[in-house]
Amino acid sequence: MKKSLKVAYFSMEIGIKSEMPTYAGGLGMLAGDMMRSCADMAVHAACITMCWQHGYMKQTIHPDGSQIYEDRQWNPADYMEKIQQTVTVTLEGREVTVGAWKYELKGLQGTVPVYFLDTNLEENSPADREITKYLYGGDGTMRLKQEVVLGIGGVRMLRALGYKEVGTFHMNEGHAAFLTLELLRERDFKDDAVRPNCAFTTHTPVKAGHDVFAYDLAWKVVGDMLPWHIKKLAGEDALSMTLLAIRLSRYTHGVSKIHGEVSRLMFPDEKIDSITNGIHHLTWASPEMQTVLDTYANGWRQDPTILSHLHCADLPDDAIWQAHQAAKQRLIEEVNKHTLLQFDVNHLTIASARRVVPYKRPELLYQNLERLKEVACGRLQIIHAGNAHPSDTFSQSVIQRMVQRSNSLKDCVKIVYLENYNPDLARLLVSGADIWLNTPTRLYEASGTSGMKACINGVMNLSTLDGWWIEGYGMDPESGWRIGSLARAADIDAHRAIDAEDLYTQLQYEVIPEYYYKNRDRWIRRMKRAIRLVGFFNTNRCVQEYLQKAWVL
Ligand SMILES: *Cc1c(COP(=O)(O)O)cnc(C)c1O
Repeated sequence: MKKSLKVAYFSMEIGIKSEMPTYAGGLGMLAGDMMRSCADMAVHAACITMCWQHGYMKQTIHPDGSQIYEDRQWNPADYMEKIQQTVTVTLEGREVTVGAWKYELKGLQGTVPVYFLDTNLEENSPADREITKYLYGGDGTMRLKQEVVLGIGGVRMLRALGYKEVGTFHMNEGHAAFLTLELLRERDFKDDAVRPNCAFTTHTPVKAGHDVFAYDLAWKVVGDMLPWHIKKLAGEDALSMTLLAIRLSRYTHGVSKIHGEVSRLMFPDEKIDSITNGIHHLTWASPEMQTVLDTYANGWRQDPTILSHLHCADLPDDAIWQAHQAAKQRLIEEVNKHTLLQFDVNHLTIASARRVVPYKRPELLYQNLERLKEVACGRLQIIHAGNAHPSDTFSQSVIQRMVQRSNSLKDCVKIVYLENYNPDLARLLVSGADIWLNTPTRLYEASGTSGMKACINGVMNLSTLDGWWIEGYGMDPESGWRIGSLARAADIDAHRAIDAEDLYTQLQYEVIPEYYYKNRDRWIRRMKRAIRLVGFFNTNRCVQEYLQKAWVL
């Protein structure tokens, strides 16, 4: 059977649901939301990804803050249908068999199949069965093998499944760039025959975050799938997956306006546009908020741009407040299962949850404990969550310090650190908190999407101006608060001190008084303005932009 696709979306990870650990963070969550919007909009898309046995690990936090990270067992057969077809790829000169599982994402108007490639098959040697074991685990050799399976194996699997005509092969990050090697082989090694069918999203604003391999190693693993002119495409000194992807794509973009600028500085000779990320509005709105929007923003499910056109008077204050209090109640009940400090539904609640990595500065709020006490005593409760990478002892010590601080500050500020940040916990946090706190070092956050998830629930962002929030705050400064300015500080430590001081100032003179002492109307008006932002920051709009700029065939 001959089948056609508008787009085949290749991504090393995808977040479908908490029980399937096939993702690590924002990149995978974006892939999931993009595919959900494609299904809602009846775009003929398929996703190619990997069937990770262990995408993220089970996190256990001990009372002293130390953590253990363990493999989480799951059985793909509980969630997916095994595909009969298999294909092979050549790794280090030997044939490795690649199978696949199919998950169907059902949307409002269509279904998007997600194919999870798997080398954990009896035909393969024990070592090759482990290629799809750990997402981002292992050394350069392992990473090359994984990228061959995703890129080359992925194209071959699509062909085996009968997809002969594909408008655009989309690379979600450079991990997928080897798909171009199989397309080159199909098309007489003519770059011009490949480029019109490829598009690329770059996600990483720091050079060190881009995959680069020594050519010696690449020859050893990938062998003669590397074309004779690979150095012309992927760089003379080493094989850059980003350059390979850019040079064989007709369209490349970053994931926010600022990230587009940063990417152009990083790759000054290349043409790089930007399409700002979004979220799938229906996935992230709480049930209560969905009911409110069904009543007062009719049509928002199919067409979230309706949210942009809402007037504050369209949404009754009571309805918004009650929907939020219901979500907050649910969050507080969950929190109180995990701490002896009983959290209170009538206290201002800040949530801050994300992968723990240094650039996100998870400890910014604790830069000056005296100042925090002065500002927040008796007025604030704080919820943290986030996994550190099992081999990242620095970030693990950050979590440990945060847990210890929650003990030392407990008579003044209630602080809890919840285990195992995943989409279910994210949904609870982004709908139940009053404030979503985000403190990345400027220019290091490509976009960020968790703050958009907060917005659809009427939860305000308090964030440094980076990634998407430069645009969100710029569209409507009344929809939340900024920390620090757009100006660049002299160095990272000076910048941290300035941002921390401004964070305390915002809390002391803006956020806390507005919540407790001023007119509640003003607060609720901000909630509505936060919701309105999702009229733009949603993945339906992203899909439309991709269709116009990236998926034109
Ligand atoms: C949305 C989400 C992310 C990405 O959020 P950031 O804004 O990049 O921090 C990561 N993990 C989970 C579980 C999410 O739901």
